[in-house]
Amino acid sequence: MTWLRNWLNRAKEQSESEAGQNSERSQQQTSSSSGEEHREGFHIRDAERRQLRRLLKRESDLEYDLERAREAFQEENQWTDRIEQLNQAVEQAMADREAIEPDREPVSRPQLDATPIQVVELKESEPANITLAIGSVWIAYAEEIDWAERGHQITMPELNRVSGDVDDLMPAHEDESIAQELREHLRHSLAIYANQVLEHEAAGTEPPSMTLADMTQKCPDCGGWLDQKGRCPHCAELNWKRQEIDADLRRIRKERDDVIADLERQQERYPVIQRQLKETRDDIAKLRAKGVEPA
Ligand SMILES: [Zn+2]
Repeated sequence: MTWLRNWLNRAKEQSESEAGQNSERSQQQTSSSSGEEHREGFHIRDAERRQLRRLLKRESDLEYDLERAREAFQEENQWTDRIEQLNQAVEQAMADREAIEPDREPVSRPQLDATPIQVVELKESEPANITLAIGSVWIAYAEEIDWAERGHQITMPELNRVSGDVDDLMPAHEDESIAQELREHLRHSLAIYANQVLEHEAAGTEPPSMTLADMTQKCPDCGGWLDQKGRCPHCAELNWKRQEIDADLRRIRKERDDVIADLERQQERYPVIQRQLKETRDDIAKLRAKGVEPA
């Protein structure tokens, strides 16, 4: 019976194939269970290798730190060198500061007499103009109108001298360089006063009264002319230089304090680093004893 043989053969083949599959499966199970053990062992070994590598890195860092800390105990070291440099910088800055003295010029600047400066003409705006009378000398100023800016002009008008000059106010027999300086000083001072008068007019207040003597007051320190607020531009510049040096001094002293603090910190850390290094080396020895090599 062909069909029966065929059926039997198919059944046999099927059973053999199933058995084969089972056998494969059981083989897979066996090999997979031993692979896990293997992998686990590998993981532990790998972790230890990485740990050893980290410990060796830490050992070398600590050795470097220990060397630095040891140096901090030497009589001369990088910190004492830097402190010495900074001490010299402090001395230099202090000497520079001492050296800033107003040099009294041998030529003394004149102070003019108390001729009052009067306002003889004043128009507040569009365009503003103002005329000052100093004795018989009249000097007129007018606002310069910048047509491009009109409509949104919010600053005070800029005054230009349009007539008169200070030549007739100059004292006779004056040294030419001082005379030139005085001429410039008076032109500048009068223009500032004209602006002041205009500002007071706009604010509805009285301008301060002013004389030529007020405009040529001398600085007690350097003999130069003071400005109308009683300040000496020359001495103000020297003062500014002193303040710059003071700022430098603060910075240098701060850095010196920081270096000293760092030096002390290094010295304090020495025993701590020693202990950490010992612990690290002990850990390394333990791993090495187990045959671990760094990753
Ligand atoms: Zn001065």
